Amino acid sequence: MMRLLARWIFPVDQPPIERGVVEISDGVISAVEPLPGQTDSNTLDLGNVAIVPGLVNAHAHLEFSNLDSPIEPALPFTSWIGRLLAHRRERAGSLADYTRAGSVEAAATGSTLVGDIVTGDWFPGCVSDGGPSIVAFRELIGLLPDQEAPQLDIARQHIVDCLAAQHAGHHRLLPAISPHAPYSVSLDLFHRLVNLAAAEDVPLCIHLAETRAELELLNSGTGEFFDMLTRFDLWRPGIIPKHTRPLDYLLPLGELPHSLIAHGNYLADDEIDFLATHPNVTTVFCPRTHAFFDHADHPWERLLDAGASICIGTDGRSSNPDYSLWSEMQFLARQVTPDRLSQILEMGTLRGSRSLGAADISGTITLGTRADLCIISLGAESATDPWSMLFEKDSRPVATLIGGKMATAVEPSSGFHHPDRELQATLRRSVEQTSEET
Ligand SMILES: [Zn+2]
Repeated sequence: MMRLLARWIFPVDQPPIERGVVEISDGVISAVEPLPGQTDSNTLDLGNVAIVPGLVNAHAHLEFSNLDSPIEPALPFTSWIGRLLAHRRERAGSLADYTRAGSVEAAATGSTLVGDIVTGDWFPGCVSDGGPSIVAFRELIGLLPDQEAPQLDIARQHIVDCLAAQHAGHHRLLPAISPHAPYSVSLDLFHRLVNLAAAEDVPLCIHLAETRAELELLNSGTGEFFDMLTRFDLWRPGIIPKHTRPLDYLLPLGELPHSLIAHGNYLADDEIDFLATHPNVTTVFCPRTHAFFDHADHPWERLLDAGASICIGTDGRSSNPDYSLWSEMQFLARQVTPDRLSQILEMGTLRGSRSLGAADISGTITLGTRADLCIISLGAESATDPWSMLFEKDSRPVATLIGGKMATAVEPSSGFHHPDRELQATLRRSVEQTSEET
């Protein structure tokens, strides 16, 4: 048994607890409470830190972990896609290694659950033991009718493979599917994949309402996506019915228990209304990727206030400097009034795990749930309320516990802070000692 004392605990499903203790027994949370009386020898005082639930990165492409910086220039968007595809074709090394490196980085920066878009030769063995839980969204692409059957086969096989891996002990892997985007998946294939997700009860994610160019293609069959599809010999007259809209993709999602739209940068009023009445369809906002592409303001606050489901992702290192969900949350926190800060923590934890159909795995610090936790070293002490303290500009994740065990640390690189080694070492000793005792 291990008891961690922190200046603040943010359970998320209840108000912050000052000088609180999280007790962990056999990898499960066995108590969350204010420090009762004096510190005893079982209690490890972590000092000026906050303990929050493990962070949830609801949209990532971990396979791009080898990129040191985003692929530039960002625009035009279809040229950026061309450079991304060229990078994928030309890179040396194994997809499994890139994916594992991405998940190690995500865990080292506080994430214990990741919605990862997986492609190509990905297989369940790409998910590392001891890393974050992975909801593996198999990417599917097919605009032409003859691509439908093979893509459905790939989707079905992916679900079978992930479930087999689960039965073999890979409990941290959950199957999911991702029809890529309206410009790469026909509405017909999309409907069939939605039906598959319903039948198999797996989450589904689609990139939707991401660019103005996408809206133009759907509406009138013109613009830079028309040029790109023509270049790839994928365009056929009538392949996308005129006046198609993101709403045509949202409506079928209303029938699924868990679906996600990545980005949602250019949602119309009636689409926001639809999302407000369908909290089973979550918008994943990727703040720094959104800034990288210089999009118009994102309607995330409007979605939140309307009662829609919204959470946060990093997207890939192809459009973002790193896989740190904490850095996304901090980026957002700097742009809002303090009354939004509790919502940002919720978006980066419970709202994310709910959207992925994994609220039983992660998202809160609750008695009886697995000890997936992120320890945040609190910044300079100018703030007085716990939320402002949590999001001080120097606050940073220093340790991640997954099932009560320390996640693998990574050497600092661009985009996230140097871990606090002393605190890490103390915590590691305590975790190891506890494991020896049990
Ligand atoms: Zn994406």
